[in-house]
Amino acid sequence: MKKKTVLPGDFLSTEEEFEPGHNAFLDEGDIVSDAIGEPVEDGQRKTVSVQAQKPLVVVRRDDIVLGKVETVRDSSVTLSIMPEPVEKGKKVLTHGRASLPIRMVSRDYVEKLSDMFRIGDWIRAKVAKVEPAGIDLRTDEPGLGVIRAYCTKCRQPLQLFGSQLKCLSCGRTEERKISDDYSLK
Ligand SMILES: [Zn+2]
Repeated sequence: MKKKTVLPGDFLSTEEEFEPGHNAFLDEGDIVSDAIGEPVEDGQRKTVSVQAQKPLVVVRRDDIVLGKVETVRDSSVTLSIMPEPVEKGKKVLTHGRASLPIRMVSRDYVEKLSDMFRIGDWIRAKVAKVEPAGIDLRTDEPGLGVIRAYCTKCRQPLQLFGSQLKCLSCGRTEERKISDDYSLK
């Protein structure tokens, strides 16, 4: 396998060849990346993993970023972020965290952030503000929001059916602020 950067949801290998290692999971016979980074094959253990990139990025206003939800509070969500697409030669700074204030989540009224995002979800967001105090994101435009969510009961990736997210392992249904580009549908 050539060295390249893979994104969450990217194909790594088939289950005949390898088993999923770190930051990888099985999706209908395919091994798929669960992180941004470089694929690493271990021929002895027969696993393929993804060496995740450190979340150190420079972003500007209106950049589109990928973020992984770290905490969900009443007024904001904290995320570790990386630019999308991951550009070669892009300057690296020490900002890897951003927050998504509740008022910038949706054009519709949002009552509870925990109905929209959960820890570990991947979201696509736009940079609203870059200040020394931190980076603010927004998801109140089309295409922005959760692109991959995980079951809060069994942690399997949720599949989108119509407008409903469903866990194929345990049958649980969940809600999120979903992007038009949700990865598993
Ligand atoms: Zn489940």
